[in-house]
Amino acid sequence: MRNPNMFTTAVVLASLLSVASAIDRTTVAEQSAISDPAEQCTTYNFPPIEEEIPKFPQVFTKATILENDDVARAKFEEISSKIPDIAPKKEGDIDNYDTDQDSDCWWTATLCTQPKAKDVLADISLVPEPQTLGYGFDDGPNCSHNAFYDHLTAQKQKATMFFIGSNVLTWPLQAKRAMDDGHEICVHTWSHPQMTTLSNEDAFAEIYYSMQAIKLLTGATPTCFRPPFGDIDDRIRAISNSLGLTNILWQFDTNDSVPGPSGEVEEANIQKSYLNFIEAANNGTFSTRGAILLAHETNNLTMQQAINFYPQLRAAFKHIVPIGVAFNKTQPYVEQDFKFPDFAKYIETEVTTVQNGTPSTGTIGTTSSTQSSVVSPASSTSGTPPSIPISISTASSGSAQAALPTGSDNSPDGLVRKMTVNASFTPKGVGFIMSSQNDGNGAESLSLSSTAVVLVPVVLLLL
Ligand SMILES: [Zn+2]
Repeated sequence: MRNPNMFTTAVVLASLLSVASAIDRTTVAEQSAISDPAEQCTTYNFPPIEEEIPKFPQVFTKATILENDDVARAKFEEISSKIPDIAPKKEGDIDNYDTDQDSDCWWTATLCTQPKAKDVLADISLVPEPQTLGYGFDDGPNCSHNAFYDHLTAQKQKATMFFIGSNVLTWPLQAKRAMDDGHEICVHTWSHPQMTTLSNEDAFAEIYYSMQAIKLLTGATPTCFRPPFGDIDDRIRAISNSLGLTNILWQFDTNDSVPGPSGEVEEANIQKSYLNFIEAANNGTFSTRGAILLAHETNNLTMQQAINFYPQLRAAFKHIVPIGVAFNKTQPYVEQDFKFPDFAKYIETEVTTVQNGTPSTGTIGTTSSTQSSVVSPASSTSGTPPSIPISISTASSGSAQAALPTGSDNSPDGLVRKMTVNASFTPKGVGFIMSSQNDGNGAESLSLSSTAVVLVPVVLLLL
């Protein structure tokens, strides 16, 4: 997230949620099956980590090394000699910073990624493979991310998730799901501060405790880091490097967390940014090396935009891969029992077009009573769109079959098409997930699940 106001809102929401009396949830399957975004975000206890929580800083407060944490203290002392003598930045420092000399390689001031300090690793801000997108999302795990993660799963798409430690401890099953789904997990600090403003010790703690939280939930110790707001200099680089982390920045931004002229994040601005990026890809900008695009798991808007623009990204790039995969990083975590395929292996099985008949993601927000979702992509088609009306009435969950003529690929006239599901439903705003599978013989099976009573007239429109 790049907008501090949005972050404050997230913190307040998290605080409000934390005062609610909590239920127990114990499995990723249980959490992942919840379709209602509000229910996904109901605070819960995850018993296996309850005893460990006191070993972490309070969530969404600036981390510092906890009293009596001798292991963290010893680690900090071990790395201290490797940290260059650069003073923490203060408000206003950027106005007086010598950008020509750029002695600290301060990205916020100059977009510098090539360190000046000795023995500090350069940041990654693009991927070496041509026509390839290193696909990643910041600020997760978001509590209501099921539809977004369902979408990624449906597309057989893995991504790099830059997790905030406080979110990991607050939403442990959502964090575990990312690992179970095969995404690459990196560190995005404990409480999302401007890292260059912190003391060495606090900067260390922000990274260290996030790594410990991810390790606690997933069994894996991350090896990659993205600083919030991209705020990094050689001092912060040295601290993260000393903890075994590679720093990952970006050169393109969806602006999905940057306020527009109104002071709020504006959907039109996000769309413009995506479209500009896609146009650049289509114009050959990435013909010799690929890109990293900044995008967020922060909220329903950012996740929905990611879903909406996925088909166009898929069409504009030859490959969309987790960032580590683009660097042939086959051991993504410290623990050796986690393996990723190298780039060549990943793209062997990569799905290079958006999946036909793959699950719709339904709605991920609760702001509208009517949603429509692109279910499948399209190759170019013409002619009058046929439609298949389906009525579903269900008290809790149900399914419906839309039998398409045998022998056709995806639609009654055999054309591969963009398929749109339009659903209206009551009560207003209820969340649902619709999934669709094509059995290869032209039969499309749809299933709908919801947590509330719904009466759903559905029209499956094959455009
Ligand atoms: Zn962020």
